Amino acid sequence: MSAEIIYGDQLSQTLRDQMKTELANLKKKGIHPKLTVILIGDHPASRSYVSGKQKAAEYIGMDSELLQLSSETTEEELLSLIYELNQDDSVNGILVQLPLPTHINEQRVIEAISPIKDVDGFHPINIGKMMTNQETFLPCTPYGILTMLQMNKIDIAGKHAVVIGRSNIVGKPVGQLLLNENATVTYCHSRTTNMKELVQAADIVIVAVGRANMIDASYIKEGAVVIDVGINRLEDGTLTGDVDFDSVKEKAGYLTPVPKGVGPMTITMLLKNTIKAALNQCSHE
Ligand code: NDP
Repeated sequence: MSAEIIYGDQLSQTLRDQMKTELANLKKKGIHPKLTVILIGDHPASRSYVSGKQKAAEYIGMDSELLQLSSETTEEELLSLIYELNQDDSVNGILVQLPLPTHINEQRVIEAISPIKDVDGFHPINIGKMMTNQETFLPCTPYGILTMLQMNKIDIAGKHAVVIGRSNIVGKPVGQLLLNENATVTYCHSRTTNMKELVQAADIVIVAVGRANMIDASYIKEGAVVIDVGINRLEDGTLTGDVDFDSVKEKAGYLTPVPKGVGPMTITMLLKNTIKAALNQCSHE
């Protein structure tokens, strides 16, 4: 059996084209959703993520601006910029590209962004809403993964999902979203002692660790759905995921590639959250 490959870039294209039409209609009604991205310093990966977000915004016709600050920017300067953007009615979504330089407290910055403009879905208020299954901005990578499963009509309710990784931005929230969809969820992390056994029992496996090719076919149950979140750059410059694609594709039912998998979906959900922010904000004016 060979897995059905879920191409996030193709799903994203469909969603982005829908959003392009939606934006054109919103603009006719005088609604111009706008995303402001703050990039601090010159981290090459961050620069490339930000440029991907901007290109995608441009493609769908969304206003976006990039505020590029030096790596010497102080926490106070960044916080006061965020407070200004919180007050600026022309800005609907604010995204601070992570990671931040070590002299800046990341959590303080996340909490400074107004929850109504928190299109990354990292603010504790929005995380709390997600935990309690309330309408909110879902964090973009987990939201993208959920959307990939739903667009492929993959059953989640009653399935055993194993999430490898427990970061605040991917592992923890993706497990919560699957729980909200009535999966039975197990988390694995660096202190898990029987990971292989747990993963072998999974109907859905989400791998978000950051270790190239760590999950091979020996971990995977025949027909399981395998979502590879990892992005690892090899010495020869190529990108690869956390899943050994070639072996796992012979055993899994569904599998996402890297690149062209979860990455483009993450950006697409950011755009979706920004449109939602603009609609919420104009309905409260
Ligand atoms: P973090 O480094 O924050 O988290 C990694 C997680 O993996 C931790 O929970 C850690 O456990 C766990 N872990 C580490 N080693 C092992 C191991 N040997 N066995 C089991 N678990 C282990 O990473 P992120 O969640 O931010 O990102 C994960 C990957 O996803 C990265 O490659 C990143 O580049 C990629 N990514 C991709 C995105 C996309 O859009 N496609 C978006 C965001 C991230 P512990 O908590 O115990 O330390």
